[in-house]
Amino acid sequence: MNQYLPLGKYSFGMGDRFAHQGKAQLQACRLATELGASFIPVWNKSNREHTFIGTEPASTRAAADAAVQALGWSQPYHVDADHIRLETVDRFIPHSDFFTIDVADSIGKPPAAESLAAFVARHPELVGTLAIPHIDQPFHTTPEYVAKIAGKFLLAVQEAGVIYQHIAKAKGAANFITEVSMDETDSPQTPPELLIILAAIADAQIPIQTIAPKFTGRFNKGVDYVGDVQQFEKEFTEDLAVIAFAIGKYGLPPSLKLSVHSGSDKFSIYAPMRRALQKFDAGVHIKTAGTTWLEELIGLAEAGGDGLEIAREIYAYAIEHVDEFCAPYASVIDIDKAKLPSAAAVNGWSSEQFVAALRHDQQNPAYNPSFRQLLHVSFKVAAKKGDRYLQALKKHEAVVARNVTENLFVRHMKPLLLGQ
Ligand SMILES: [Zn+2]
Repeated sequence: MNQYLPLGKYSFGMGDRFAHQGKAQLQACRLATELGASFIPVWNKSNREHTFIGTEPASTRAAADAAVQALGWSQPYHVDADHIRLETVDRFIPHSDFFTIDVADSIGKPPAAESLAAFVARHPELVGTLAIPHIDQPFHTTPEYVAKIAGKFLLAVQEAGVIYQHIAKAKGAANFITEVSMDETDSPQTPPELLIILAAIADAQIPIQTIAPKFTGRFNKGVDYVGDVQQFEKEFTEDLAVIAFAIGKYGLPPSLKLSVHSGSDKFSIYAPMRRALQKFDAGVHIKTAGTTWLEELIGLAEAGGDGLEIAREIYAYAIEHVDEFCAPYASVIDIDKAKLPSAAAVNGWSSEQFVAALRHDQQNPAYNPSFRQLLHVSFKVAAKKGDRYLQALKKHEAVVARNVTENLFVRHMKPLLLGQ
């Protein structure tokens, strides 16, 4: 296996769209670490987010470095080029040390017949009765099944290999962490599929440390999980069993773990995840992004005055462009348009009303998930406001930072690792 930069056991991916919340986010890691939940911070920003906002990957690195210096953070930290492909990776290479290689688009495309036949021939261990420790029922597979699943994923893995080699050549294999993501696709991957994918990844010599499968259920942006929580727990637990097994069987990095692209705020699956992680003493990488941008809006609204004004303006623009903003995220949002307040109504809202509708507090009857999802996908509007938005963040830094830190620490990190 190739060399790699090791990733810590628990790592927390946090997006910072406007690169102003690094310190507030890192403060959440610091508070969690003080309680024994040591999260390695990873700042992730995708090519799509950079494009929408008009920023360059160098700005993510600069913000991360500045936050680390300001807080005197002495543990590792990373900058993730999130959801990159061969055609988008280059501008990230000098600035990132974590690469999320997204090959979801190639899932289902047929590989070359010879390479498929060679894969099946190389892996007789995948055929028959597969008893994996900690999975109650062994999997029963046939050569046809293995060929069918490999036929679905092999090309995607080969492509990941090409992208990995491209990065390794430019950067040196020992200088970065590799994730492979398959979450942005239609159907979830089952545990036996995950095993076949990992076998193929090992064949491709990718020292993968995090893998992001698509899990069962809906992972809508900024709101809670929608789906069968028990089924999720069963699959998540079986995925952990498969990973532990594959590390030994295929010589993958011992730090290999699941990456959960949460779309932020999947609170109802944190307890099931915690139970499963404890069972295997496994690590996890949890990725959030938009939750921080929404806390910026909450902080601005809470500040009142010009802060509230800009938050109202952003909503007014968003509701006017609702179809345009929702289109790129159609598969990861469920907005009930009837529940979206009019711009005029929101213009009359107080700070408390705006905050209550937006803050992810499911106990609060005024919380409005449709309002929250629309604003989640409307960060472009804040980008359009340019310096005025950034000045507002600076002016109201204290209240914004308090919301950003508290959200990550109290609603995410504590429930995920500490169960409180
Ligand atoms: Zn993702």
